[in-house]
Amino acid sequence: MDYREKAFAVLKERRDRAEERATRIKQSLLADPEYRALDSECKKLAFEKARLASLDRDIGDLNANYEELCGKRAARLKALGHTPEDLKPRYHCAECSDTGSVGGRDCKCLKELVYLLINEGQQVPCSAEGFLENPSLDAVEPKRRAAYGKLYALLARYAANFPDVKHIYMLIGAVGVGKSWAAGAVCHALMRRGLGVLFMPAGRLNELFLQYHLAPLDKKQAIFAPLLEADLLVVDDLGSEPVFNNVTSVYLYDLLCERHRPIMITSNLETEELRLRYGDRIFSRLIDAENSRILVIEGSDLRLKKR
Ligand SMILES: [Zn+2]
Repeated sequence: MDYREKAFAVLKERRDRAEERATRIKQSLLADPEYRALDSECKKLAFEKARLASLDRDIGDLNANYEELCGKRAARLKALGHTPEDLKPRYHCAECSDTGSVGGRDCKCLKELVYLLINEGQQVPCSAEGFLENPSLDAVEPKRRAAYGKLYALLARYAANFPDVKHIYMLIGAVGVGKSWAAGAVCHALMRRGLGVLFMPAGRLNELFLQYHLAPLDKKQAIFAPLLEADLLVVDDLGSEPVFNNVTSVYLYDLLCERHRPIMITSNLETEELRLRYGDRIFSRLIDAENSRILVIEGSDLRLKKR
């Protein structure tokens, strides 16, 4: 089963659960004789009203009676500890009612789910609503706030211009400077727009490469496809993964060549270390003046890497 099929299975389970819950509540209400009688009267009157209206007949006091009965039914519902909302299935996603599709297109909940499954449930960091547009710098050391203000402004522009952005965008800086957080903020801004974002820790990406390498020919495509198809692919912490001979660099190179949509990469490695680790072919793809942009977060400074 591929990730998309798995995601649909999860959605179906969510939908079934929501519908079962609503059905269970309805059944428990109908077990109450008073509620059942009121509900049955309301339905009869609603039917009668519709019948008379369709014949163009005068409905007389029916409306008033109907309203009164509905009021009594609502009061009984409340007395039994429920709200009218309880009678409807409470779907996980209000946009697609957990079907995964809106107007024939994939709902953003489906995309998020597919990528969550690929990442084995690991969430994208920085889920604070609107963080990128309105970042809180309280947690940042005072002397670094200006640099972070600049960084988030650049990233907000990146997200606003997306997908019209550099093919490769790199955030380089030491451990703990908040690169993953910043990349995650971009992901959430794009996900809210309904875009499909795949946030891959480099270690997980490397595992997928190995899985791809070992897979039989007819299974390979399904493993690589999500990496090419996501609107944005983030490779988080490049350089932290173990290097597998004939795997890591080979498929990373293939990915950089075959993926025609934007890629964001975070890394602790300085550019020269990247060259040593991945070789000239990959390095020249990453450090390509035309197609890539490198931001270095360093001390209290944010600089654009000169090539
Ligand atoms: Zn949805």
